[in-house]
Amino acid sequence: MNHCDSIPLIEKTQEMAKMGSWDFTPAYNRMRWSSGLYRLLDYSPETDEPTLENLLALIHADDRSLVEQVYTRSFSEGKRHDISYKIEGPSGTVRHIRDKCEHQIKSDGSTVCSYGYLQDVTELEEIRIAQQRSRAESDQFAHIASHDLQEPLRVIIGFLKLLENRYGDQIDAKGRDFIERAVKASLQMELRIRELLSLSQVNTRGALFRETEVDQIFDEVRHRLLPVIENKKAKITCTKLPKLEVDGEQIATLFYHLITNGLQYNASRRPEVSIDCRTEEDGYLLAFSDNGIGIDPQFHRRIFEVFQRLHTQREYQGIGMGLTKCRRIVERHGGAIWVESSPGKGSDFYVRLPAS
Ligand code: ADP
Repeated sequence: MNHCDSIPLIEKTQEMAKMGSWDFTPAYNRMRWSSGLYRLLDYSPETDEPTLENLLALIHADDRSLVEQVYTRSFSEGKRHDISYKIEGPSGTVRHIRDKCEHQIKSDGSTVCSYGYLQDVTELEEIRIAQQRSRAESDQFAHIASHDLQEPLRVIIGFLKLLENRYGDQIDAKGRDFIERAVKASLQMELRIRELLSLSQVNTRGALFRETEVDQIFDEVRHRLLPVIENKKAKITCTKLPKLEVDGEQIATLFYHLITNGLQYNASRRPEVSIDCRTEEDGYLLAFSDNGIGIDPQFHRRIFEVFQRLHTQREYQGIGMGLTKCRRIVERHGGAIWVESSPGKGSDFYVRLPAS
């Protein structure tokens, strides 16, 4: 036969995706494995039983007790799971696996059927580890560079000020203007170096994640911004926010930047920022919406890069680091941040955070 029908579609898909699936019917205490799963686990349908015990037997010792706990909870409570762990084949090769499972539950709460899939994600995991390593290296580089640059810059600023104080009356107006500009530029540079240092510290100096009332974080940030809110006659609203396992200080920084930007890049007579939170399958989606000047879609990615700004200092003050820091913070929490906006239509900044 030389047409596609000769190869079962699902079979080929599972092989290409390096995955396999299973289902389990509690009423018959029967588990079935797809041939993809036998292949993935290096088992043979002729000699190996498709049982949960056989599946769990391959889990790497480092992860076994945690995975067993997840499975026990998943089956006893009928809760879906989505986890990653390592398995170790008979030859000792270690592979990274993503494991997803769902249950079909009857109205009386009992399970009709459970089904799931396992996928070999070793290549993705290796890329992730390499990215993590290179990010750690660049954070370390930024940290050392900023530290080392701060010292000579302080000396430059100090001597410029000394020059102005001691010899200011011997220098003409043009000369004093030059000194003033040099001091201003040096202070700008000092600010940028400090911001670079603080960006590198998002990962290296972050606190442990703890259960935190995000409502409380919002209240604190709002309190800090009261003078700006009153000055701009602005309105900030917020729906009920959840308890999340996060680094509270970093989430406060995130709220601070997103709210201040919504107020700053805003030409309305009554600037408004509203924060909304929606529960999603695996976490939460926070939306920070404003009625500001909006952003051309061609710049939606660029504004999250280091020192990228769309305006001059004369139009709006800033150094272009707020959103970069927001992105780092969100990524450290395993989430994502993006913007939807167009000029004159306000902006919606979205932050997706995993449940835990
Ligand atoms: P900064 O505010 O210091 O310039 P950010 O990284 O916070 O740095 O923002 C980068 C750029 O993105 C800003 O200069 C501005 O042009 C644009 N921007 C950020 N937030 C908004 C917003 N809510 N509405 C319109 N433009 C925004």
